[in-house]
Amino acid sequence: MGKLLGLALLMVALGLWPRRAGGLELHVERAYHALVNSPDLVIFGGVAGYFGGKGNRDEGCSEADFLRLSLQLWHATRNAQYLEFAERCLFNHFFGNQFRTGDFGHHLLCREGFAPLLGTGRAWWYCTMHGLRAFRDVLDSMVTCDEHGMKVELFLDGECRAGDFHARMEGHTIESGLMYEIRVENAPLSEFSISLRVPPWASEVNARINGCVEPLHIREGYQTASRRWEKGDILSVDFALATRLMGRDGESIELGSMGREPIEAALWCGPWLLGVHEAKNPLFFGEPWQENVVVLPAALRFSKDRGSEPLDTPLGKVKLPYLHGGFPDSGVVVLQPVSARTQYEQSAAAVWLHYCRGE
Ligand SMILES: [Zn+2]
Repeated sequence: MGKLLGLALLMVALGLWPRRAGGLELHVERAYHALVNSPDLVIFGGVAGYFGGKGNRDEGCSEADFLRLSLQLWHATRNAQYLEFAERCLFNHFFGNQFRTGDFGHHLLCREGFAPLLGTGRAWWYCTMHGLRAFRDVLDSMVTCDEHGMKVELFLDGECRAGDFHARMEGHTIESGLMYEIRVENAPLSEFSISLRVPPWASEVNARINGCVEPLHIREGYQTASRRWEKGDILSVDFALATRLMGRDGESIELGSMGREPIEAALWCGPWLLGVHEAKNPLFFGEPWQENVVVLPAALRFSKDRGSEPLDTPLGKVKLPYLHGGFPDSGVVVLQPVSARTQYEQSAAAVWLHYCRGE
């Protein structure tokens, strides 16, 4: 199915998809929306390897194509919705599809998340090439710039060069969420604007320039600092992450409305879908682990875990108490973004869990 997505992607990229006055011909967008509203778009933000329930694996090619198509549609239409789909796929599926050896391939989808596959699922003939090639599209989309300013679209580590302006960007996990820093390496003599997309996953945004609180100007989905920058200036932005429980029906469950009765849900925190990795929590998967109940506090507190080389992006981890199915004692489980699995040899990763509210 990656081939169909790939064909649509190629046509959009080459400008072959017919356009009309109102923008792109509706057909590609209609097909895209049919896909993202179908069960073929899986919870991790990517797509199944075969559509229509004909398989139970994902595929590096399919995730790469869906990511690239989303980014290309965003470039073509500037509709932020496509960038949000791309970001969700990138952070929660594509990064995790990459094996610790750098290659891409297949993982077994199961009711709770991912299960180990017979054989590791590395697919060198297509997936590795497609996966690595998609990083070019990510780099081309993470920052947009011209001689007047730069815009951060995806909060990843990297750099921006625009005329005399040069900056490096880096993200860090902090206790309350994510801190993103832009360090000016070189600046023009004239005013230059640094803008950051206002992501839907942030519940609060606080900016500082060289350590001093600086309210940013918010307009058309971006927050902007515009000034004459000097080498060594640092713009840092703290994002408090919106926490959201999602039921199997896709509807959000208010944390405040939860009681002590466990409910089955997936936990989103900022851009990340959190889950339990067997490689990190072997005892959590002792039977009957499907009856485990994770106890949620009023607010999640992250500790830093940058993960391995292939996943060069900040990752938080959260330690929470849980009650093990069939056992009277409580334990502790570490929740991490599901894509953190890229650093582990293949093992189970559960994102659909039972949650209840703590005291
Ligand atoms: Zn493939």
